[in-house]
Amino acid sequence: MNSFDPGAIVVRGAHYIGGEYIQAQGASLDVARPSDGRVYAELPIGDADLVAHAVDNAWRAWRQSGWGTMAPRERARILRRFADAIAADSKTLAPLEALGSTRPVRDAFAWDVPFAAEGIRFYAEFADKIGGDVAATDHGHLGMTIAEPYGVVGAIAPWNFPLVMASWKIGPALAAGNAVVLKPSEMTPFSVLRLAELAIEAGVPAGVFNVVQGDGRTTGDALVRHPLIGKVTFTGSTRTGAAIMAACAHTGTKPVTLELGGKSPQIVFADAPRLDDVARRIASGIATNAGQVCVAGSRLLVERSIAEPLIERIERILGGLNAGATWEADTTLAPIISTPQAQRIDAIVRAALEEGAQARCGARRVETGAPAGGAYYAPTILEHVSADSTAVREEIFGPVLTVQTFDSEDEALALAAHADYGLAAGVHTADVGRALRLVRKLEAGTVWVNRYGRSNDFVIPTGGYKRSGIGKDLGKQAYEANLRFKSVLIDLNG
Ligand code: NAD
Repeated sequence: MNSFDPGAIVVRGAHYIGGEYIQAQGASLDVARPSDGRVYAELPIGDADLVAHAVDNAWRAWRQSGWGTMAPRERARILRRFADAIAADSKTLAPLEALGSTRPVRDAFAWDVPFAAEGIRFYAEFADKIGGDVAATDHGHLGMTIAEPYGVVGAIAPWNFPLVMASWKIGPALAAGNAVVLKPSEMTPFSVLRLAELAIEAGVPAGVFNVVQGDGRTTGDALVRHPLIGKVTFTGSTRTGAAIMAACAHTGTKPVTLELGGKSPQIVFADAPRLDDVARRIASGIATNAGQVCVAGSRLLVERSIAEPLIERIERILGGLNAGATWEADTTLAPIISTPQAQRIDAIVRAALEEGAQARCGARRVETGAPAGGAYYAPTILEHVSADSTAVREEIFGPVLTVQTFDSEDEALALAAHADYGLAAGVHTADVGRALRLVRKLEAGTVWVNRYGRSNDFVIPTGGYKRSGIGKDLGKQAYEANLRFKSVLIDLNG
């Protein structure tokens, strides 16, 4: 994918409801491009009436279209067409995604768009594969469970991977026969509108997939609280997740999937094979999307005897990254989503330095040549951090790697444990027994051994332990989470 001119792309500041763009009046907010801080569009803030219109309409469309009652194989066919349409649209979708988000265009083209398409295709395949079960009863009875959709699922997405996070929500919800009302992040609201258009063009009935725009406090809250929302699926911060859980409890005890924050450790033992490969994994675990990744491997725990050669290698890789606008084809270090977020990253790094940490590299904002006003942060390695510093405890959501050393397996485990988070962890060692011992002992929803990051095949679910979340995205678990199961018992002699 080549560089593109951001001024050449036109976006629509609108909701998408019932298969049409809705230009509602009322409050709005300015949306800025992370790459240069320039305001490029205005976004309507959907109020409670607008959200009620979207959900009521989705409910009607869901019932009238028969989306939840049609032959599952037909639903699968439509969703496969939707997936094909996304993949075929990458020349439009990738620049649209890059324009307003932190996703460099070459990544959007090579990963975000095909991955979003494949996510829809993966769940299309479930539509006619998982139904209910016949239970083992005596022969005087027939007992079974029937899988049924909830109706309308409310989906709320974060800004860090707008298309991919949306596809993880809408894929399983639609395949299971639900309608969806999606609220993207107000910071990255436009690319999913194109997804909605493509869905309808592919044959998803108008009104079955809708997008409402706005902030969390007004639009997101109204969506979660609407009485016709049967299930809520959310990805975002732990704080917002807790607020959504409370709102779900108070407005109908709605089931909720929460994919939340993390502070994931990468544990490297001295016997880890191929130190160059380990360094590449650690570097990419903190530099991808400039560290704005829920599973960023932001805490390096390394056996003391190999700390220096490993850090040297990581530093060299991070030093080769090229900060730049998301529309430049040679950008390998993404911008930070906003100036306040870059300032927050810098404040946490400064506080760590004042507490005695040492910066091996980075620890400063980056001035790039072209885009004036964008927020960039230099990849940072902090050594000699204290275990109770904010840099070690809090999710930074930037390219900041803290380093702590250990001398024994027990010490590594003690450092890895986090008071609140348990999203992911990496273990790098040649010792299979040790790897499996750590897999058992680490309190994390995902443990990667001698790799760091998801595979591209969707089969392994993702989701956190502790305050990193409830439930799973991906895998068959995400499909089942969009279904409710009705138990039926028939007395055959009754
Ligand atoms: P955020 O919580 O600020 O916002 C997420 C979404 O929630 C946005 O659409 C926002 O408008 C909405 N929202 C905010 N308040 C709301 C409310 N009261 N009711 C309903 N909706 C509300 O998160 P963010 O800054 O967009 O995303 C970054 C966070 O997301 C990080 O903590 C990251 O770890 C997490 N994340 C987790 C995963 C995962 O799979 N576990 C994946 C990606 C991102």
